[in-house]
Amino acid sequence: MIQVFIYAIIAIGFVILLKIASKNKSKWGIHLKRVHCPVCQTKQPIVRMPKNGSQALWGGTTCPKCHTNLDKYGNVIP
Ligand SMILES: [Zn+2]
Repeated sequence: MIQVFIYAIIAIGFVILLKIASKNKSKWGIHLKRVHCPVCQTKQPIVRMPKNGSQALWGGTTCPKCHTNLDKYGNVIP
């Protein structure tokens, strides 16, 4: 029974950490909303095809219209 309790605390702590990370827009955060390309205002597709390891790992996308690299929050990656 105590094990279930410990798992619950770990799970809750994990969710809180993810929420904090998402708030700070760190790469550990989760951002599920569709972003718009800041360069050409194109809505990015829901299903993203990672073009490199960083995109696969941390999220982010490459704009299909102007090929700008965006992170998962829609910020331009230089
Ligand atoms: Zn674009």
